[in-house]
Amino acid sequence: MKSSKSSTPERLRKIVRTLARVYGDATCALHHSNALQLLVATILSAQCTDNRVNTVTAELFKKYRTAKDFADADPEELEAAVRSTGFFRNKAKSIRGAAARIVEKHGGEVPSTMEELLELPGVARKTANVVSAERGNAQGIVVDTHVRRLSQRLGFTRQEDPVKIERDLMRLVPREDWALFPHLLIWHGRRVCDARRPRCEDCVLNDLCPSSRV
Ligand code: SF4
Repeated sequence: MKSSKSSTPERLRKIVRTLARVYGDATCALHHSNALQLLVATILSAQCTDNRVNTVTAELFKKYRTAKDFADADPEELEAAVRSTGFFRNKAKSIRGAAARIVEKHGGEVPSTMEELLELPGVARKTANVVSAERGNAQGIVVDTHVRRLSQRLGFTRQEDPVKIERDLMRLVPREDWALFPHLLIWHGRRVCDARRPRCEDCVLNDLCPSSRV
């Protein structure tokens, strides 16, 4: 591993600035037009590609428009509709359970606090973080497989557990960047810093990255 001359917070600021310049349009890749759709899409995205989720939700959101629609969905019909995203029984159950609680406790509107989001059945911290960040109220930092890998390679954490990685990142990343930061790492991870073959020779961060091979 290379050692960097600048301190980690300073290096992080440079990395965020560089990636924001390169990926000026980095956003959430899951298609949605409201918080409920984002919540459903994020539940479906576990162990599934965003493209597959977008294909499924294009039809799903035409049929189920409100939290009540999802809460009242016929279980087998909903399972069939989300089948191709994998783990479809659990995902359909989570969607119906979360929607039912949204109807019962929140008047049909997706709640905005982390505590309330985490009380929704089937909603874990990553999903709650995705939803709160997209609503302009990030209360943590999304840690998915790309954020985890790049945070380790870039020397922001030595942890393996996503909750501990998030804790390290929340200490380092300025709060105003909590929503943007994971998008930048996800976009860079998909395009350059591949899991098996990172393209360090083409990477705009290779002078700032302790794992650079060039
Ligand atoms: S220099 Fe290599 S390891 Fe570091 S972020 Fe770039 S591609 Fe990934």
